[in-house]
Formats: sequence, C-alpha cells, structure tokens
Amino acid sequence: MESTLKEYFGFSKFRPYQKEIVEKILDGKDSLVVMATGSGKSLCYQVPPLIAKKTTVVISPLISLMQDQVMALKQRGIRAEYLSSAQTNRSAHGNAESGQYDVLYMTPEKACVLTTSFWSRLLISGICLLAVDEAHCISEWGHDFRVEYKQLGRLRDVLPNVPFVGLTATATEKVRSDIISSLKMKNPHVTIGSFDRENLFYGVKYSDRSSAFMDELVKEISKYTNSRSSTIVYCTTVKDAEQIFKSLNEEGIEAGIYHGQMSNKAREESHRAFIRDEFYVMVATIAFGMGIDKPNIRHVIHYGCPKSLESYYQESGRCGRDGIPSTCWLYYARSDFAKADFYCSEARTAEQRKAIMESFMAAQRYCMLTTCRRKYLLEYFGEKYGSVNCGTCDNCTNSKNESDMSREAFLLMACIKSCGGHWGLNLPVDVLRGSRSKKILDAQFDKLPFHGLGKEMPANWWKALADQLISRDYLVETFRDMYKTVRVGPKGVDFLNSCSPDHQPPLYLPSTSEMVG
Ligand code: ADP
Ligand code: ZN
Repeated sequence: MESTLKEYFGFSKFRPYQKEIVEKILDGKDSLVVMATGSGKSLCYQVPPLIAKKTTVVISPLISLMQDQVMALKQRGIRAEYLSSAQTNRSAHGNAESGQYDVLYMTPEKACVLTTSFWSRLLISGICLLAVDEAHCISEWGHDFRVEYKQLGRLRDVLPNVPFVGLTATATEKVRSDIISSLKMKNPHVTIGSFDRENLFYGVKYSDRSSAFMDELVKEISKYTNSRSSTIVYCTTVKDAEQIFKSLNEEGIEAGIYHGQMSNKAREESHRAFIRDEFYVMVATIAFGMGIDKPNIRHVIHYGCPKSLESYYQESGRCGRDGIPSTCWLYYARSDFAKADFYCSEARTAEQRKAIMESFMAAQRYCMLTTCRRKYLLEYFGEKYGSVNCGTCDNCTNSKNESDMSREAFLLMACIKSCGGHWGLNLPVDVLRGSRSKKILDAQFDKLPFHGLGKEMPANWWKALADQLISRDYLVETFRDMYKTVRVGPKGVDFLNSCSPDHQPPLYLPSTSEMVG
C-alpha cells in the first residue's frame, strides 16, 4: 500500500485513518468516513482501485469538481473519467462498462439513470467500491440536502456485494445514521476523525456595516492580496458580494466574484482563475462551495453571520488545507440575527424549521462567544476539547479588557424583568433610555423606576451588553412566532436576587467593539 501511495501520489506516508479505511474497503466492508475538510478523504477511495485492479465508482455532486479530480488523477497516471447527464461521450460510457477506468466519477443523477445492464457489465469487469462523496447531501438534516442523493440507496440492490463508503466533513449523529440507512449499509466501519484544524485561527469582529467599516475591511483584504495570499470573502447575500466586489475594484484590488445569479460559464471561469492565482481574492456567496481543492487559501472572511455552524465550519475550513497557519475571521452585525425567517422559508415541516432555527442560534452564539471559539466549535460537533485556552482564537489570545458591569447589567436585567419578559430587546432598552413612545406610555412603562436611567448610553451599547449577558446565560432569548423575545434566565434571577438598587455584586464582562465605541 505504501508503495502504491508513493508511486502514484508521491506521498511517503498515509495520514491518520487513511490506511485503515483503505484496508477495510479492500476487505469488502461498508464504511462511513467523517473527517475534516482537507484531511485527505479522497485518497481513501482513490487508492483501493490501484491495489485491487478494479474500478471505483465515485458519486460526486459537482461536475466542475469531478473535472478537476479527473484531471489531477490523469496527471498521476491513474485512469479516470467522469459521466454526467450532460456529458455525451459515448466512448467514455463503453470504456467505463468494460472496466477501463480506475476511478470513474459520476453525478448522482447519472448513477440513477444508468441501466441495470451497465452495472452488470461493470460488475463483471470488476468494481471494488462505490464511494459517495459529500454524503451528508443524502440527509435532510444535513445543511445541503439534495433530492438526487436520496435515490442512491437503489444502487445497493444492483450492487449487492460491492462495499459502499460514504464520505463527509460534516455529520451530526442524525446525519450519520441517515447516511448509513439511506445507503443501506451493513454494519459499517465508522471512522470519525478529529475536527480540530490546528492550523486555523478563529476570530470574530463586530461590524456595523457602515462605509467606515467597509473601508477597514477593504484595507484588511488589500494587506492579504499584497502578500499574495489567497482569500475567500463569503457573503450571505448576492447584494453584499457585489458591494464588496465593487469596493475592492474601486481600490484597485483585483478580485473575482462567484454567486448563484451568475451563469454557469461565468462561475466556472471565475473559479478557474482563482485556482490559477490570476487574482488572490474571491468574493462569493456560499454557492462557491464544495470541492474547492485549493490547498493554499490563507484567509476566509465571513461577512455576515452564517446560517449554521456546520456551514461555517465547512466554509472556513477551506483555508489552510496544506496545513500552513491560516485565518478565519467572521464579521457579524446584529441585523444578521434577524435573518431567521429567511432561512426558515426553506423548511417544509415544523421539525425542519426547528432544526434550522437551532442551527442558526448556535451560529449566533458563536458570534457572541467570549470564551474559546475552537472549544465551542469542537464541542458543537460532539468532540471533547480538553484545553481551556487554544492559543489560536481571538478570545484566547486577546488580553481581555474586562470591566465590572454589575450596575449596568442590573439595570438592564431588572428592566427586562419589569417589562414582563415577553418583549424583544428594543422595548426594555427604549425604557432605559427614557423613550416616551406610544407603546411605552400605553403600557405605563414610563412609570417604572428604571425609566431613563440608562440614557447616557446609546441603544447599541445596551444591546451589546445584552449579547454578553445572553452568551453567559444571564438572559435567555427565545423565538415566539418568529419574533425573538428576551427574558431573564435562572442565572440572571440569581444575580438580581443578590442585588439591591444601590449595591450589586461584581459582574465582569469583556467590552465589545460597540461598547468601546
Ligand atoms: P478532503 O477530501 O478530506 O477535504 P482531500 O482529499 O482533498 O481532502 O486532501 C486534501 C489535501 O491533502 C490534498 O491536497 C491531498 O493531496 C493532500 N493529501 C491527502 N493525503 C495525503 C497524504 N497521505 N500525504 C500528504 N498529503 C496528502
Ligand atoms: Zn481558543
């Protein structure tokens, strides 16, 4: 196995798990491989055909990705091809049946329309593995469900004794069991690698989306491009992507753009130019996704809170595949958190809606986190992270500027409590700031003892304080009919009980950029 690895790929040793996975496949066992992006999953299905001298069929969702992989394999002297519904190369089809390829890629649509006689012929020619790449697409619980993937279970009946392997970089318990059952795997060998990407630095900054902020962002990106480090800027909307793209252009920074409203051709060209280092920064929506195998991406910036930590982990994980230190910065604005409705519009059932909402809340918490981001990410994916200080996230490296916010926290929480705890954040903040809006007068909140006590601080300052209190469980946010309400949680109640109007126990909180001003 090592000599095959060396001969074809030029690598002297296997990375963790790879060898074991290849061995299980050669033993004919079904496998589920959950390993981080960049950990080397592809090799796990590319090596077996070279040893078994039979074909591996790989189901992959994107044609551009298959083309890249086929090209890379051919350069290594491995016989590879891809079949898609769009591809009308007849000889490829015939060659495939007669076992002329080591690695044969196909889209899930294609796999489902190929005839039984195609599969029977391939079986006779010799097939050693069916690999389903990006296998989380099979699950409605994954973040990238694709209907065509759901049909793949049928192949099991056509290829009863061929081992199946599902590979993905994201899999919660639910997604994992969905993959196993949808592919009708028999007692599979499950490999779950660590999700810790040690070479990545994680950080979050608050953005107020002002033009001053945009200037700062552009300046930051120009630093990256000056040192020729490839960067992806992920935006949550096409509009944002276009705006950043324009701002970069105005500063004379050469960039590419990639989003779902562009033609396939334009997108492909943009992708290729980025891969070839024709420019160093790609501004994109999450449509710029799977299969970006560019090993030297140094920075991934998210402009806007992502819809889930699964997607954040995957998108940010596209940098530093070569193992060299790289950074993942996320810029969020409070207004991002109002996007829940938008994400929920994809949901078809109440349960799905709940799942989407929960994922989004986890991403919001990540934004507001004041403790180690790596630990939070890893524990979200069910991995224990022993250390309290990773040394490579903003919260672990900043010498924290904490101050005693006990009086302000007391005012805010007492006010939220007095308002009845079934409002969003705006109302209690307005009360503190002494507003006499109709809503406040109608509810007689102007009579509360806290009315006007917080007017020397701007509304955003109070909201930032609320974020801190939410992230530390003093305040609890809940969704009710798509509206976010905030109330004092048990920890906050304990705090309030130990307070009097002129004395509060110390409560140290770090200042966010909004609080510093
Ligand atoms: P994944 O599919 O898990 O995201 P890839 O299979 O694309 O990861 O591999 C990521 C990078 O690691 C590729 O550039 C690949 O060539 C490299 N790689 C994979 N296995 C090894 C190995 N055993 N030794 C050195 N580099 C490897
Ligand atoms: Zn950390």
